[in-house]
Amino acid sequence: MTASLVDSLNVSRQREAALLATVPTGLLIGGQWREASDGATFDVHDPATGEVLATLASATSEDALAALDSAAAVQASWARTAPRERADILRRAFDLVTERAGDFALLMTLEMGKPLAESRGEVIYGAEFLRWFSEESVRNYGRYFTTPEGKNKILVQHKPVGPCLLITPWNFPLAMATRKVAPALAAGCTMVLKPAKLTPLTSQLFAQTMLDAGLPAGVLNVVPSASASGISAPLLADPRLRKVSFTGSTPVGKSLMAAAAANVLRTSMELGGNAPFIVFEDADLDKAVEGAMAAKMRNMGEACTAANRFLVQDSVADEFTRKFAAAMGALATGRGTEPGTQVGPLINAGARDDVHALVTAAVAAGATALSGGSPVDGPGYFYPPTVLANVPNDADILRQEIFGPVAPVTTFTTEADAIRLANASEYGLASYLYSRNFNKLLRVAEQIECGMVGFNAGVISNAAAPFGGVKQSGLGREGGSEGIAEYTTTQYIGIANP
Ligand code: NAD
Repeated sequence: MTASLVDSLNVSRQREAALLATVPTGLLIGGQWREASDGATFDVHDPATGEVLATLASATSEDALAALDSAAAVQASWARTAPRERADILRRAFDLVTERAGDFALLMTLEMGKPLAESRGEVIYGAEFLRWFSEESVRNYGRYFTTPEGKNKILVQHKPVGPCLLITPWNFPLAMATRKVAPALAAGCTMVLKPAKLTPLTSQLFAQTMLDAGLPAGVLNVVPSASASGISAPLLADPRLRKVSFTGSTPVGKSLMAAAAANVLRTSMELGGNAPFIVFEDADLDKAVEGAMAAKMRNMGEACTAANRFLVQDSVADEFTRKFAAAMGALATGRGTEPGTQVGPLINAGARDDVHALVTAAVAAGATALSGGSPVDGPGYFYPPTVLANVPNDADILRQEIFGPVAPVTTFTTEADAIRLANASEYGLASYLYSRNFNKLLRVAEQIECGMVGFNAGVISNAAAPFGGVKQSGLGREGGSEGIAEYTTTQYIGIANP
């Protein structure tokens, strides 16, 4: 290694250490950062090296209830705050996150592994929820109209649902938090946020940024913890909690829905996906390969919207698969902070082993690995971009969420086959269609059982659009004008003969 390279590595390590030193390590309860009630802590690791990045307070059940005490204590006053004031706080938060984009991006790369350029993209996407819901908070309209009989009046208004529990996953540490916190604040709700224990640092910095933007104490409380159920169980059992919004795996979502039933809580569930990526023979194949790279490789494939099943029409399957494998094989893997890295590590050793087990089983069932196919030696949890051709339609890899940089390709003959294969999943989150025939795209979209469909587009997430799934991919929508409705309840007032 040259002396100048060693110098630049030292400078970047110093910058990482300086940033980590600014991240709050406590629990945020009632506007104060504090230790856990039993003094317990847990470590957060860099998945590219396995090194410990930081040690955070680990909230107990008692801390979770103290956080709900704070949220409940200010619910009424926060609900009464002028919508414009809530909008101004969210807008200031948008400005501050944007100003601190470099810090947020580096922190996400350190704790989650994604390349810096992708982390910067997530900062822009994540911050946009703050701006979008700052604009939505003053447009939470009701309605006033005459009954059909013509005598009385009907008044409908939307009120905040009340204190919320927000649970986020590790894969998009900023965007999953802003996608919940911003609409909840805009609607006038207070909240307890529990970030994923693998990537809580970004939420800690985000919470401090919300305080810096002028958010009153107690409105947002944050309880990172080594024990997820130790936080959720007492909160879901407490009658003061009125809503749970969860993003994560389908099995955990189901268990939270069951627990939420006891108090008939409102729920929003953003769960797993198994997105089909359908390439018809009349598609622009180069654009389809470009879209496939984006839909598969964003976040190293660790995304609920990641294309999981590539369904390609027979006549173009060889050409598409060859071009796709060449593009996947050319990607540079490395620590996300290193210049030129296009693919970072997976989140931990278990994730890497799970991905490899699916690949091994698919190959044993007859698939061929055209690129990648075996794990990269450590340190760090790297897996190479892998394209599998000739995957049998009953292979496990087509049924399960892969959550890694692996693209199984299978073929179809007719449009009806494509629709049948696409819908052969218990999930229904995102889907991607490539064709030059717009009528065909609309016709297929009508029949696809998914909450979101991309036409000739590999990335479709946008704060202004309703994000969410059908079937076992979940309930409710985040973003768009639908997003704020998840945090409001409807009150009807009947007015006699005014
Ligand atoms: P996960 O279900 O393991 O964890 C998600 C969150 O739930 C974490 O904060 C975790 O600590 C918490 N949790 C885990 N067990 C819990 C329990 N028993 N009680 C309460 N909380 C609990 O999921 P993950 O591995 O963090 O995230 C990956 C999953 O999330 C994938 O399935 C992915 O598709 C899904 N996801 C969905 C969306 C979406 O919008 N639909 C977005 C991102 C990720």
